[in-house]
Amino acid sequence: MTTTPTQTITVRNYVSGRWLAPDSSPYQEVINPATGEAIAHVPLSTAADVAAAIEGAAAAFPAWRRTPPEDRIQYLFKLKQLLEEHLDELARIITTENGKTLAEAKGELRRAIENVEVACGIPTMMQGRVLEDVARGIDETMIRQPLGVVAAITPFNFPAMIPFWFLPYAIACGNTFVLKPSERVPLSMLRAFELMEALDLPPGVLTLVNGGKAAVDALLEHPLVRAISFVGSTPVARYIYAKASEHGKRVQCQGGAKNHVIVLPDADMPSATQIIADSAFGCAGQRCLAVSVAVAVGEAQKTFRDAIAEAASSMRVGFGLEPDVQMGPVITRESKTRIEALVERGAQEGAQLLVDGRKPRIPRYDSGNFVRPTVFDRVPPDGELASTEIFGPVLSLVPARDVDEAIAILARSPYGNQASLFTSSGAAARKFRYEAPAGNIGINIGVAAPMAYFPFSGWKQSFFGALHAQGNDAIEFYTDKKVVIERWIQEHSRKF
Ligand code: NAD
Repeated sequence: MTTTPTQTITVRNYVSGRWLAPDSSPYQEVINPATGEAIAHVPLSTAADVAAAIEGAAAAFPAWRRTPPEDRIQYLFKLKQLLEEHLDELARIITTENGKTLAEAKGELRRAIENVEVACGIPTMMQGRVLEDVARGIDETMIRQPLGVVAAITPFNFPAMIPFWFLPYAIACGNTFVLKPSERVPLSMLRAFELMEALDLPPGVLTLVNGGKAAVDALLEHPLVRAISFVGSTPVARYIYAKASEHGKRVQCQGGAKNHVIVLPDADMPSATQIIADSAFGCAGQRCLAVSVAVAVGEAQKTFRDAIAEAASSMRVGFGLEPDVQMGPVITRESKTRIEALVERGAQEGAQLLVDGRKPRIPRYDSGNFVRPTVFDRVPPDGELASTEIFGPVLSLVPARDVDEAIAILARSPYGNQASLFTSSGAAARKFRYEAPAGNIGINIGVAAPMAYFPFSGWKQSFFGALHAQGNDAIEFYTDKKVVIERWIQEHSRKF
């Protein structure tokens, strides 16, 4: 069995520049999903622990906001270098606690670093605007000021990338930042925060609090927290959006997904199959942009079905630290049980099980949470399989006569995180781009993840709020606009 890079460790919080192991809170085990081994214990911080962390962040704010943006981004240049130097180490930690392959973990870290790079542009991006002579002799200026303490609550599926959708922009804009990572994968951010100590940021600019619902509620209720960013499932997103709003906070909540891909018969079938297989089964189907329903049009119902079934069957599944593994386990034993139960119900609702990935035998990893790639054909478009977020390596094929019917099927989804089309027709692509009701659109792309200088743009029940993560939306989210109108009376007696 491959050795893991972490021993059983006790996760700590990072508050006011000091490491704390809360002693009043319960601890929860962190499990390696490939081996079933306990690798760490994470504190479930109490409201009092979180309040102390927020107060530390608030105390750091006045001096940090006065630090010139040019000086603030110097820390980010160093942070980029630090993440590059420790990329392999961090990737191994991600694989160990999350289960994705090492290549996938490195890919997510590249996306994290990209956000640090973009936030280095804050001295330009954060600028306001001025109009002279809005009336005779009167000038009007809009300036952007940081909010204060801002917090992010993040999910298990990208333990490093998602915190970095927020952290670099928040602090570059002059806020102090509190992170509450997923209690299922706290080790990547534990190590990242240990590394970030070398940046010599003033204590309290960056804060790490670990925990679950009690810690989240404490962040949502605390009057010193000005803004909340959340990424996770839709029911929790809805809860956080309502509760943070009730407490007067600015809030952006990215929720769950059920992503459709339409495959037209004129698509380049070998490349479409490879890309869609990676989207549906990569990260064990636990990407929020994973394709989950493939609507095959006309002849593609046969050509794509045969090709994707073959691709699914030949995928190498195992512990992501081992070479040549293409897909790892799902996050918990409960996830595996839930996914396998959904597959069972899918078969009962009349879908045809083409490739059954339940209860696989992965040599040497009997205690891992493995589900192999699974493919259903002839899935009822409005049944449970086609409409529930499975968050596992299960692809449902739904037939459609033409592109209009295919778009109508995906438009009925309550989610709108991503929609993709595979075709060689520009006209079909243009129609799809124009009509598909989702925030992230892929044309011959399987995982349409926006680069850091574009917003990560979910729609419908995949997003609650107005401003998305990344790019200019992040600057809007992390700053308040102040408008100044000035008149200076000319003293006629004075000569200038
Ligand atoms: P989750 O909703 O269970 O947890 C996310 C965060 O919320 C964690 O930090 C967790 O501690 C906290 N939390 C959980 N239950 C809570 C509760 N009842 N009250 C308050 N806080 C609570 O999500 P997850 O299982 O970690 O992540 C998977 C989900 O995230 C999927 O639905 C996936 O689609 C979604 N996701 C969405 C995006 C996106 O960009 N839209 C990106 C990644 C993941």
